[in-house]
Amino acid sequence: METVQEGKADIRLQIVPVGAIDPGVLEMLRQGIAGVLPADVRFGEVLEPRAGAYDAKRGQYSAEAILNDLAARTSGELSGPVLGVADCDLYVPNLTFVFGAALGPAALISITRLKQEFYSLKADRDMLYTRMMTEAVHEIGHSYGMRHCFDPGCVMFFSRTIGDTDRKGFDFCETCRETMSRLSKPLLEISEDDPRLAPSLNIML
Ligand SMILES: [Zn+2]
Ligand SMILES: [Zn+2]
Repeated sequence: METVQEGKADIRLQIVPVGAIDPGVLEMLRQGIAGVLPADVRFGEVLEPRAGAYDAKRGQYSAEAILNDLAARTSGELSGPVLGVADCDLYVPNLTFVFGAALGPAALISITRLKQEFYSLKADRDMLYTRMMTEAVHEIGHSYGMRHCFDPGCVMFFSRTIGDTDRKGFDFCETCRETMSRLSKPLLEISEDDPRLAPSLNIML
């Protein structure tokens, strides 16, 4: 696949493990993201979801509560977008689940529903990698200010089902690749209408 752009890695992106998660899976994701985005991808400290983030009735964690804690990591020395990666099921109020979500410069994905085991199928590491990359690139795209795309083969298409995720993969369509390339430049090199200058306060899925 093509990379977004050839520029130097000016963007610092932190991957934050949310609760307990397989370190091998995280490293696979780190390398994958560094390979497709012009970013210096590092690990941040583990974030333990606070007790209030868990909804016992649903048996799920609030994506918004975790995103708010992740957003607090987007300032300071390691500033730049933050991608939280969880292995617990996530929800937002009006949906039964979400694969991921983003709020301002904070992005979050859950690998729980990306594993074949969740669907009572045999574990498949390659499939998990592709799905993780797809969800991660999508949410990072939102954290850079990107919106949804109507091309079902573009990573910025909204996934309602795991089938949508598998169909689109983690490649941008031509238009979105251009937008991402522009948005992933340092703030000094971009125009005044860049969405990052007025980050969205709405949660994006
Ligand atoms: Zn697109
Ligand atoms: Zn989305």
